[in-house]
Amino acid sequence: MTVRIMSKATIGVVVTFVLATSAHANKPAAAKQSETSKPSAGAAQTNKPAKTTKSAGKVCELRINSNDMMQFDKKKLTVAATCQRVRLVLHHTGKLPKAAMGHNWVLTKAADKTAVVAAGVSAGLKNGYLLPDDKRIIAKTTMIGGGEKTTVEFSLAGLQAQESYNYFCTFPGHVGLMTGEFIIIK
Ligand code: ZN
Repeated sequence: MTVRIMSKATIGVVVTFVLATSAHANKPAAAKQSETSKPSAGAAQTNKPAKTTKSAGKVCELRINSNDMMQFDKKKLTVAATCQRVRLVLHHTGKLPKAAMGHNWVLTKAADKTAVVAAGVSAGLKNGYLLPDDKRIIAKTTMIGGGEKTTVEFSLAGLQAQESYNYFCTFPGHVGLMTGEFIIIK
């Protein structure tokens, strides 16, 4: 029950704050939770406080659910312009398999949405209904089925607060219901 209470927009703010403050802590352990998929090439430099290197910056987390009714649970996602990176977690709370009711989360300029969806349909399920290397795609998750979760992390660099962005699912026929506004607040 208590979990439900904080499942709204407050999460993004809370996480942001926590991550921002943990950057100042001198525990190297704090860095663990982020880069999990990274091959550790230079193990020597991990215990150095990263100052000039690609500092993770301020990471803001967003969560969105999708279901067997072909719906996202949010029509709008908002991030502050001070977020340097965004981590989006997509959860499919339904039961249907990917081939029947697959969902992904794709971000583009609003003006590119229709073309990206059309190209994705042609690309087929084997490509997650997305044209590989489509330059119009700002961020995308993998396509998931019921009970699955997926995460994408991307940079806000180059995105403008005054631009209009949309997120949507590219599974054929889903975009009509499964779309929303992605808003950057100055
Ligand atoms: Zn979908």
